[in-house]
Amino acid sequence: MQDKIIQTVGLAKRFGEFEAVGGIDLEVFRGEIFTLLGPNGAGKTTTLRMLMGVLQPTGGTARIDGLDCFREREKVMTRVGYLPEEPIFYDYLRGREIINFVGEMHGLSEADIAAASEPLMERLKLDDALDEYAVNYSRGMKKKLALVCALMHDPALLMLDEPTAGMDPYATREVHELMQQRTERGHTVLFSTHLLDQAEKLCDRAGILFKGKLAAVGQLDELRQNLSEDSSLEEIYFSLTQDGVEDNIPENLSK
Ligand code: ATP
Repeated sequence: MQDKIIQTVGLAKRFGEFEAVGGIDLEVFRGEIFTLLGPNGAGKTTTLRMLMGVLQPTGGTARIDGLDCFREREKVMTRVGYLPEEPIFYDYLRGREIINFVGEMHGLSEADIAAASEPLMERLKLDDALDEYAVNYSRGMKKKLALVCALMHDPALLMLDEPTAGMDPYATREVHELMQQRTERGHTVLFSTHLLDQAEKLCDRAGILFKGKLAAVGQLDELRQNLSEDSSLEEIYFSLTQDGVEDNIPENLSK
């Protein structure tokens, strides 16, 4: 039996009357790349935020390594590297100061911070911007800086929310390689994306979220079973999210 690093049972989140995540049972196995797909508003970010312990579920449970993601979030955070969809930094901290701050929070020494971050910054071509204030970073640069912060403590699980959004093709290629190299070392990657070709290229298994529910989970071959053997992920996605053009937005926001 495969070793589960993430397990959710009936995981749900309501914002007032609106159900953003409607009770999902999800298992992610150690050492795999798992992708969460779904249209705008499907509940991907909300799910990842509950797994990070940033949001308290209104129903069900989420566990990482057997730890409750909300109640034991401090322990969970030591095992997980999280890249938010839109990273936010203090405007007037420089890149280098942010990296040192996050490294120290993880209990790393100055030498460990340098050893962990410098190769990553060079790889992502961020080393020239280290003395720049965060307020002057572009969206892609902020995403890269947040990725360095997420990787510095060498977490066993990486959770990446639209990891390459805003990144140029060179950085995108580096991030894909980084994800694959993590799993070669037995680490696990869970990422959300809208880029179906990125999912098709990288993931071992995918989960398709639609209106807060998991419409399907499995290897791409398993997902193809209901269609034809040579269906692309794009065809599977559209067959499962047929009215996906209609965003899942709360009633009070949809008028
Ligand atoms: P996208 O692909 O556009 O990033 P997503 O799948 O990540 O979408 P979520 O950000 O998880 O979707 O949002 C799911 C739903 O929950 C959306 O309808 C959103 O408007 C709603 N939602 C998210 N956060 C809140 C909040 N704090 N208060 C009220 N509604 C929220």
